[in-house]
Amino acid sequence: MCGVFGIHGHPEAANLAYLGLHSLQHRGQESAGVVTCEDSTLHAVRKMGHVAATFTRERLARLPGTSAVGHTRYTTAGGSLPKNIQPLTVESRSGALAIAHNGNLVNAEELREELEADGSIFSSNSDTEVILQLMARARGDDLAARLGQALTRVRGAYSLVLLSSHGIVAARDPHGFRPLVLGKVRGHENSWVVASETCAFDLIGAERVRDVAPGEILSIRADGLRSVMMRRGDPRYCVFEHVYFARPDSRIDDLGVYNRRVAMGRRLAVEHPAEADLVIPVPDSGMVAALGYSKQSGLPFEIGLSRNHYVGRTFIEPKDSIRHFGVKLKLNAVPDVLRGKRVVVVDDSVVRGTTSRKIVKLVRDAGARAVHVRISSPPVTHPCYYGINTPTRDELIGSKHDVEETRRFITADSLGYLSPEGLLEAASHSDSRQYCTACFTGDYPVPIERASVRHQLRLIEV
Ligand code: AMP
Repeated sequence: MCGVFGIHGHPEAANLAYLGLHSLQHRGQESAGVVTCEDSTLHAVRKMGHVAATFTRERLARLPGTSAVGHTRYTTAGGSLPKNIQPLTVESRSGALAIAHNGNLVNAEELREELEADGSIFSSNSDTEVILQLMARARGDDLAARLGQALTRVRGAYSLVLLSSHGIVAARDPHGFRPLVLGKVRGHENSWVVASETCAFDLIGAERVRDVAPGEILSIRADGLRSVMMRRGDPRYCVFEHVYFARPDSRIDDLGVYNRRVAMGRRLAVEHPAEADLVIPVPDSGMVAALGYSKQSGLPFEIGLSRNHYVGRTFIEPKDSIRHFGVKLKLNAVPDVLRGKRVVVVDDSVVRGTTSRKIVKLVRDAGARAVHVRISSPPVTHPCYYGINTPTRDELIGSKHDVEETRRFITADSLGYLSPEGLLEAASHSDSRQYCTACFTGDYPVPIERASVRHQLRLIEV
């Protein structure tokens, strides 16, 4: 998962990109980068680590120009290495180019082998570079046209923002797995922005215009906006964005995330009521769903777990040792809330089950009389190959164990997951939009070839 940002036609492009990335920090904490363009020259600041650590006043001052692209990254393909930090930049026939990518290509290995056999040399092991190499071979001077040609070859998930001296190009795969939204900076008639989520717009005083459509290539230049549909969109929006990934204050694909999450919590309360005294969220990921559960059930909402916000998202750290240590670093129980109480603990998802297990223990050790775990999504049974960092099937507790076995593993008094139908109803509100639910169902909208999967794993080990 990653966050992407692009801005065109603004005198403060670098500063606004930097601020935008702050709002997208939750989408990836491994590295951050901004590339700006002045005349025909690209200027880049890219570092491992958080946005706040990457950009100093001095570094931002070295990013001139009125257009910029930015990226926050966590690894889904390619290693967690400095050479893979995005935006990636290249010199091409028609000038310098930068690209920021959220998503994951499922045929990157095949394409890479083909390109290497034909003489291409890769400078990173990120799947994103495949797009650049394909663009280098495409015909035409127009960036959007060359991107369009390149994208006919790739399959999988991509929300892209590219920067050249001609302007910015944004593109979204035909299924629209990952979000991408277009906005305008208030008070700057010709300043357009694109970002993974609208929360990036709120911070910089931009307003949402519309979503970039699945299958659309959007070219933003000094002479205005041009849109081309590379293929008819066949939306399969990622439902997990609404469950977990996106910020609750964001609007993605024209639905407010907060309300969807409340609806999931409400539905969870209907499907899995509990004899309890209060509801507590696992902060922050279970916060809004727990509120929904409380509203629907009438049980009081309390903060029974306190979160240390100065520790990064633990699951996201690639190393196991850090992840396991993480829960204690991050969460502590509030005994005054929990002592002697029957508690409903709401979280958004169970992946390996290790977090829930530790939380149940924390809550019990703080004196809770009973711990009922409620999860606002179905069991994760399949890995995501479209850009969310899930482990292999073997590590997913939901793929190997039924609900009762999982309950025993996490040592809860009861365990209830939101049903797939309940999730889709809550996520869709009143319209019947199509979601990708592969992580819960194994129903992959873009087929996964064995080779690509092997490649992904091999690269992660690099
Ligand atoms: P686990 O211990 O593996 O069951 O992890 C479950 C916790 O990880 C839940 O609290 C989720 O909010 C969180 N989580 C689920 N998916 C992801 C993800 N892709 N990246 C980071 N955290 C996640």
